[in-house]
Amino acid sequence: AAKAAGRRQWCRFQPELHTGMLESRALSAQLEEAVRSDEFRLHYQPIVELADDRIVAMEALARWPTRRHGVVLPERFITLAEETGHIVQLGAWVLQRATADLAAWRRSGDWPTPPYVSVNVSARQLHDGGFVAGVRAALESAQLPGEALVLELTESVLMGRHDQVEADLRALKDLGVRLAIDDFGTGYSSLSYLRELPIDVIKIDKSFVRGIARNQQDLRLLEGIIRITDTFGVQLIAEGIETAQQRDLLIEIGCGFGQGYLFSKPVAPGEAERLLVASNDR
Ligand code: C2E
Ligand code: MG
Ligand code: MG
Ligand code: MG
Repeated sequence: AAKAAGRRQWCRFQPELHTGMLESRALSAQLEEAVRSDEFRLHYQPIVELADDRIVAMEALARWPTRRHGVVLPERFITLAEETGHIVQLGAWVLQRATADLAAWRRSGDWPTPPYVSVNVSARQLHDGGFVAGVRAALESAQLPGEALVLELTESVLMGRHDQVEADLRALKDLGVRLAIDDFGTGYSSLSYLRELPIDVIKIDKSFVRGIARNQQDLRLLEGIIRITDTFGVQLIAEGIETAQQRDLLIEIGCGFGQGYLFSKPVAPGEAERLLVASNDR
C-alpha cells in the first residue's frame, strides 16, 4: 500500500518537479559557467555608527549580472549555489574580492579607524574542509589583519554545527576574525549562541527593525536583547533601517550601529570607496 501511495504521489508531482528541475538545471549550468568565468560582482552596503552616521564597515553582497535576466539577486542564486555546492567556489571568490577591495580602500587614505569588511558565509562553506585555510589565504594575499574581516553566519550554520565547525570558528577567532550572527530575530536565533560560541556581533533582522516602530513589545524586547548583548560585549547592528524614526528609536534604546536604505543602498565598489572617503573626511 505504501508503495502504491508513493507511486501515486510520484505520478502526481512528477511533471511539476520535472520542469522545476529543468529550470534549475539550466540555471545551475549557467551558475557553474559564471563562477568559472568570473561573472559575479560585489556590491557594498555601508554599516554606520548610528550616533554620527560615520561609516565603519562595508558589507559585501554578491550580484550576478546576466545578459538575459539583468542583474540576478542573491535570493535567486545563493540557494541554488548552496544546493549544487557551487557556493564553495563562489564564496571563496567573494572572500578574495572583498578583502582585495578593502585593502585597496585602506591604502587609498589615512584612516583614524580603518574600515572593515563584512562577508556572508553559507553553512555549506563552513562544512567544506578548506574554509579556514581559504580565509587565511585571502587575508594574507590582501595583506590584511584578521581584525579587518567580519564573517556573517546565519542560524543554519550554527544550528547544524558539530565539533569541527566549532573548532573552525575558534581557529577563525585566533586569526583575529570576528563572527556575526546575521538575521537575528528570525527563525530560531537563540541567545544561547552567545554562551556557547565566540560571537562578536549580532545583526538584528530588518523585519524586527520594522516592528519596533510599530509596536511597543518589539521595542521592549529589543531593548532587553541590547542589555544582554552589552553584558557579553557583543556589538549590535540593526539591518534594514529605512526611516529616521526607526533610527531615532534605535539610538534611544542604545543600539550602536545600523545599515539600511536610509543611509545607502548597496553600491558598486567605486561608489563604496567614495562613500568611505567622504565619511572619513568630515
Ligand atoms: P543579508 O546578509 O541579511 O543582507 C541584507 C539584505 O537586505 C541585502 O539584500 C540588502 O540589499 C537588503 N537591504 C539592505 N538595506 C535594506 C533596507 O533598508 N530595506 C530593505 N528592504 N532591504 C535592505 P541582498 O543583497 O539581496 O542579499 C540577500 C541575502 O543574500 C543576504 O542577506 C545574504 O543572506 C545573502 N547573500 C548576499 N551575498 C552573499 C554572499 O556573498 N554569500 C552568501 N553566502 N550569501 C549572500
Ligand atoms: Mg548579511
Ligand atoms: Mg541580514
Ligand atoms: Mg538576510
